[in-house]
This record gives sequence, structure tokens and C-alpha cells, in this order.
Amino acid sequence: MRTSLADGWGGSMIATDISDILFGTPAPVLGEANLGVLKDDMVNVVVHGHEPTLSQVVVAASQDPEIIAYAKAAGAEGISLSGICCTANEILMRQGIPAAGNFLQQELAILTGAVEAMVVDVQCIMQALVSLADDFHTKIITTSPKVRIKGATHIEFDEQHALTIAKDILKEAIDNYANRGDVRIPDYKNSLVPGFSHEYINYMLGGSYRASFRPLNDAIMSGRIRGVAAIVGCTNPRVQHDAHHTTITEELLKQDVLVVETGCSAIATAKAGFLLGDAGLDRVGPGLREVCETVGIPPVLHMGSCVDNTRILTVLTQMVEEGGLGDDINEVPAVGIAPEWMSEKALAIATYCVASGAYVMMGGSNPVEGRGDKVPDSVLVADYFDSGWEELYGGKLQFLDDPQEMITRTLDHIDAKREALGLPAYDPTQFGTSGDARIEELELLPFEERRAAMYGQASAN
Ligand code: SF4
Repeated sequence: MRTSLADGWGGSMIATDISDILFGTPAPVLGEANLGVLKDDMVNVVVHGHEPTLSQVVVAASQDPEIIAYAKAAGAEGISLSGICCTANEILMRQGIPAAGNFLQQELAILTGAVEAMVVDVQCIMQALVSLADDFHTKIITTSPKVRIKGATHIEFDEQHALTIAKDILKEAIDNYANRGDVRIPDYKNSLVPGFSHEYINYMLGGSYRASFRPLNDAIMSGRIRGVAAIVGCTNPRVQHDAHHTTITEELLKQDVLVVETGCSAIATAKAGFLLGDAGLDRVGPGLREVCETVGIPPVLHMGSCVDNTRILTVLTQMVEEGGLGDDINEVPAVGIAPEWMSEKALAIATYCVASGAYVMMGGSNPVEGRGDKVPDSVLVADYFDSGWEELYGGKLQFLDDPQEMITRTLDHIDAKREALGLPAYDPTQFGTSGDARIEELELLPFEERRAAMYGQASAN
């Protein structure tokens, strides 16, 4: 637990802060997600992995007139850049570069036949990409000394010569455009607004002069927002693609739970249309809908890549500091869920969140629990992660197969925390008569009745 706290609050948080210093603190920007972002008349370059350093320079190089002219000379209309996995999230939330997909779509992007180069750095790069790409014209370009794949083209990234290397990579892709065969790009994509850093949430709720988490705390305390769920992490081939992320998100939104997301989870629900203002609001509970309409936010806030989960811890800390929701993170009506995790680092992230006081649920079985006839269940360890840790740190870790069970436990936990804080029990019938729904209703009334409804009988008289 000590190591995880150092990892989270020391390592990961500082990495996120330094990324923001180098590349800019994210703020809302319009983007798109899904394979439909690939272009059939342009050189498609997909960046994939986790490190923002190279991808940010590739973005700059792709807009260089010399590179655009080089692409046009090759017969293309230009260069189309997109991302997979959390490199996608990094350039999506800062520059609005579209996400071609999340973890389980890296092979599908190659199958379109439209990708001239897939540029990879570290983590979540499927080892079989090169052999798959052999059946198409796609070049897999590795760039990190830590990740080399047999058969891939290796162009090592070096910060001292970043722009030159990025241009070399793009020229490799452009030279490959002539080798393109049949192209089948699915006509599926959705718009989204990513980029909700905790700095922006602060500003969004209170403006420049009174930036504050007070409106969010007030909305939770009144019951307009029942609680908060952070749904994060990987997509897992053991589950129908994106299914657990979208199922849990959809149900919690109906129950007036504000959802914040990072990593491949955010891309999953972006594809389902939850990350764009009004588009998702008809699927949202009445109280949460009022808040979204008033503030002008989507019901699901995209908070970054999977290495940005400390942004969520900072939000929780600021909510506690603002007052009214307890004295520590473990008192806030909130949960963390990684419904389809598969990367080892998800366990590290879960552990520092638990050590910070959060209730964390992870999909699938507990890797140290032991199951079956030959291996006795390690009930002791599983219980320790649950009630043992809760006693010590206020947070707990559970592994659950069933997304419905995660939804039920989320709502039970949020309601229990509300009760412990002395907040009113969640009652959705109290809300839904302000905001846009209220305006639509009022617009149907004759003028005098509308004025009376808005300003009271005395004013109408
Ligand atoms: S969320 Fe998981 S699968 Fe997606 S990029 Fe991060 S570690 Fe990889």
C-alpha cells in the first residue's frame, strides 16, 4: 500500500502534471471516435501506445507544409492522423485528433486496409500486430528502445531530434500509400467533447473569479446528483467489446450518478454517444440532466488517458476540501470501477485508489484468490482486500464478474455514504422540472400562464 501511494501520488500524478506543463492542461475540445475517422483518400497514420512525447510531435509534423506537399505528391489529399489506446486519448484531449479506437480495435484498424503506418511506443501493443500487418500494406513502426517487435520497422525516438524523426516516420507512411490495396472503412464514428481536467472542472463550475467545486458538492448534497462513479481502464477480449463499460455507464446515468472516465473506457462510451452534450441527455436521470443542462457539460466527463487517473483523485480531494461531503475521500458518495481491466498497471492504480480511501470494483476474478477443485479459495486474502483494507484505509477492492452486480453495489455504496453524511435519501421525483425540460414545458403554455409559472401569481397580476 505504501508503494502504491508513492506510485499514485508521487509517480503518476507528477507524470500527469509534467505532461500538462509540457503539452498544455486539457480543456474541452470537439473530437471524434471510432474506425470511421480513417480517411480513404488520405495517408492514414495511427499512433498507438501511451507516451505523449512522440505523438505530440507527430501531430505538429503532420501539419508541416513540407509534409502535406509530400503527401499530395504521392497522390493523397493529405495526412490523417488518429490514435489507438491512450496515446489516442493524449492527442484527443489536447488537440482534438480523432481516436480510431481503443485497445481491442488495434487489429481492426489494420483490417480496414487504409492504414499506411501504425506508430507504436509502449504498452498494450499486441505482439501479433506485425504478422497481421504482413497480410496488408500497413507498416508497424516501433519507436521505443523498450519495445521492439520482430519484423517491425524501428525508428527510435529521441527528444533531441524529435521533429526530424517525426517527419521521417510520416515520410515512411507516405511512401507506403502507393502500396494500398482494397479499403473497407466502417461508416461508424461519434462526436465527443473530451478534456475535463480538474482545473477545467473547477473553472466550468465557478468561472474565472470564483472557480470552485461548490456547485458540484451542492448538487450531490441536494440529491440532484446521487453520487459519482469513475469508470476507467481497459477493454478485455473476454467480454463483448465495450459491453461492460457501456452497460454500467448507461444504467448509472439513469440513476443520476455523474460518471467520469479515463482510458479505453472513455473511448468505449464516446463511441456510444455519451460524451457529447445534449446527445446523451435523454438517457440521463432527471437531476443529473438538470445539472448537465445548467452547466453545459456531457453526462460523462472524459478526464484523460489511463495514466491520468490521479486527476480523479484530485477531484475527490477538492470535493472533500470544499466541504459538506465528509473529511476524507472514503466518506464521499463515490466509487471506482475498472469493469474490463487486463493490464497489470490497473491493479497498481486500483491499489493506490483503495489506499486513498476509494471503493474500487474490478471485472473478472481475483488473480490471487484461487478457484476450482485443486486450488482452495484464498478467502483470507480476498477478505483482506475487502473488509481488511476498509478497516485500515476506508477503501476496499472487490473483483466481480457481473456488471449488474457492480451497478447494484455502486448504488448501495453511494446511498450508504449519503446516509452516513446525513444527506437526504436519493429521490428522483423531486427533480426534472427545471432546465431545458422545464423550458420546453413552459413554452407550450399561453403567455400569461407561462409568466405566472415563472415569476409567481403576484408578478403575473
Ligand atoms: S486503458 Fe488499459 S487497454 Fe487501454 S490503453 Fe490503458 S492500459 Fe491499455
